[in-house]
Amino acid sequence: MNTQEFIKIEDDYFINTFTRQPIVLDHGEGVKVTDIDGNEYLDMFAGIAVNALGHNHPALVKAIQDQAEKLIHISSIYYNEPALIYAKKLVEKTSFDRIFYANSGAEANEGAIKLAVKYTGKSEVISTVESFHGRTIMTLAATGHEHYHEPFKAILPEGFINVPYNDIDAIKEAITENTAAIIVEPIQGEGGVNVPDNDYLKQIEELCHENNIVFIVDEVQTGFGRCGTLFAHELFDVKPDIMTMAKGIGGGVPMGGILATEKVASAFVPGDHGTTFGGGPLVCAAANAVLDTLDEENILDNVNEVGDYFIEELKKLDKEIIADVRGKGLMVGIELTEPGAEYVDKFREAGFLINCTAGNVLRFVPPLIITKDDIDEFVKALDEIL
Ligand SMILES: *Cc1c(COP(=O)(O)O)cnc(C)c1O
Repeated sequence: MNTQEFIKIEDDYFINTFTRQPIVLDHGEGVKVTDIDGNEYLDMFAGIAVNALGHNHPALVKAIQDQAEKLIHISSIYYNEPALIYAKKLVEKTSFDRIFYANSGAEANEGAIKLAVKYTGKSEVISTVESFHGRTIMTLAATGHEHYHEPFKAILPEGFINVPYNDIDAIKEAITENTAAIIVEPIQGEGGVNVPDNDYLKQIEELCHENNIVFIVDEVQTGFGRCGTLFAHELFDVKPDIMTMAKGIGGGVPMGGILATEKVASAFVPGDHGTTFGGGPLVCAAANAVLDTLDEENILDNVNEVGDYFIEELKKLDKEIIADVRGKGLMVGIELTEPGAEYVDKFREAGFLINCTAGNVLRFVPPLIITKDDIDEFVKALDEIL
């Protein structure tokens, strides 16, 4: 079958939820992916900031292969070694005390909000405009995009208040005696790679402490080295009560999780929350391989070095169409003075996979193993295309 025939299968049989790029990807190696026609692309998107180690990383592939031969699934009713080892390892690297395994970012956020509500006995949640927290009904309510809410207004839960991002006064005004939680991304991803002021998260932390509100950071996109520290909230010197994660956690296997402090975590007792797949041996073996490889290959150093270089090189480009260059580590955006969608096609045709978010922000979230040479190749192409 050729690409057009494959795409027709999608048109005929899929529920229509995605605007896809018209290529069928076949295999990948490092920062490159190849489609079924043999066209090679430099992957500046990494499956929406997921493939932290790139494609076909030997440590990740081996971990999955070895674990698949032993056990793939047993349910949450029994213990499994990879999940236990991973929990200890990850908790010891953070300021949190306990973990819950989920299967996606939305599911992690859903659980985090349930935990905050149970812990506080309150029912309001403050989140930010242009945020993205997921597609389930509750996380949709937390997601600050009116047009995502619109078709489902009738069944969205009450108590979710979206306030402008990076505006501490807006949060102050939204707090009531019924506020259970404030949930924010340390750097907004889908919203357009929005980096807040240095003291924004610290001020939220203080407001949460003063008002006995649970401080939730959604690190689904920013976590696992994406922004140059293991988790992006570390950049802002805060200790949230709950953190959610997914995307990069398993290097591509579907997985999510919640970390919480002892105090907040203690609100859950058996029966309050659960999952069939979460924390299974296969995904946890993958997650162990990702976390170990981040250390062994000093990947955070690479993120900082290459990320800083990338942003510097982009800032050197002197072009009318570039309104702003921003980001942290390898989460980088260029805001254009016009819509960006057609540029995504131009880049693809030139052999580069990128993404456009928030209408006019070209977003680059490549594998964390990308090199300066790859960046040079990309920036040269970008200079020509823009
Ligand atoms: C992608 C994303 C989610 C949703 O994750 P899914 O795995 O698609 O459910 C939630 N929060 C943030 C910040 C994200 O980037």
